[in-house]
Amino acid sequence: MDRPSVHSVTLNRELCKGCINCIKRCPTEAIRVRDGKAAIISERCVDCGECIRICPHHAKRAVSDPLEVLDRYAYKIALPPPSLYVQFNNLDEQDVVLEGLLRLGFDSVFEVARAAELISEATRRLMQSRDLPRPVISSACPAVTRLICVRFPQLMDHILPLISPMELAARMAKDEAIRKTGLPPTEIGCIFITPCPAKVSAIHAPIGSGESAVDAAVAVKDIYPPLLSAMKKAAPVEYLAGAGRIGLGWGESGGEAAALMSTERYLAADGIENVIRVLSDLEDE
Ligand code: SF4
Ligand code: SF4
Repeated sequence: MDRPSVHSVTLNRELCKGCINCIKRCPTEAIRVRDGKAAIISERCVDCGECIRICPHHAKRAVSDPLEVLDRYAYKIALPPPSLYVQFNNLDEQDVVLEGLLRLGFDSVFEVARAAELISEATRRLMQSRDLPRPVISSACPAVTRLICVRFPQLMDHILPLISPMELAARMAKDEAIRKTGLPPTEIGCIFITPCPAKVSAIHAPIGSGESAVDAAVAVKDIYPPLLSAMKKAAPVEYLAGAGRIGLGWGESGGEAAALMSTERYLAADGIENVIRVLSDLEDE
């Protein structure tokens, strides 16, 4: 592997055939061919995962094994994102998923959607300030914030000065667990169930918020099979879900902006190419 650094996307040089398809897809020109093999320039990579999509056999994400990570901590907290629920067809209630996570071996669950609701509230208050440069750009997606740092640095002042829902959820969950168990923080593990590689990098190297309170990440695709089996075993016995419609809406395109419930105009863009188009237009005023 070419770089076991803070990045979660890696290229396997041994398998690379030097076809340059990934180079054509990379939005930040972070891939170069050296000696007939692709190599990622660490400083330019935003972990968007576009190269994984074009060459799935030759790139992989550095996330933890779902079962192995459970052995690392005395008290394990799962942090499911709002987008986890939409992976399951005909899901009647969030509790089925949350109870499934407990059956896998987690000691508690803390929905990231709960923290998203607090971020929405804080954003509403901040947006009332005329001091924030308009348009304001959400800080929730680490791939977008890294993309701005690498390719559009003059737009950095426009990024909302708030931590992500994932980070807030981890801090709240850990505080709750310390109070409940009396364990030291080092024995409590906050494990994020990640839908994308950029979130993994945000855990290892958060932008602007010191050390992350998230201890590890497991990929949705890796936890899905055991979680689905655990969900089928029995009906949930506890009320675990605490997030409402606003927080769950963050899992959909435009949900974060809709959660502001304000008269502010907004534009939601998904897909790295659309995001780049919007940022380029902003840069050109
Ligand atoms: S990593 Fe894959 S897509 Fe990129 S140059 Fe090598 S073989 Fe081609
Ligand atoms: S993850 Fe994105 S930025 Fe990084 S090398 Fe791949 S395509 Fe380029």
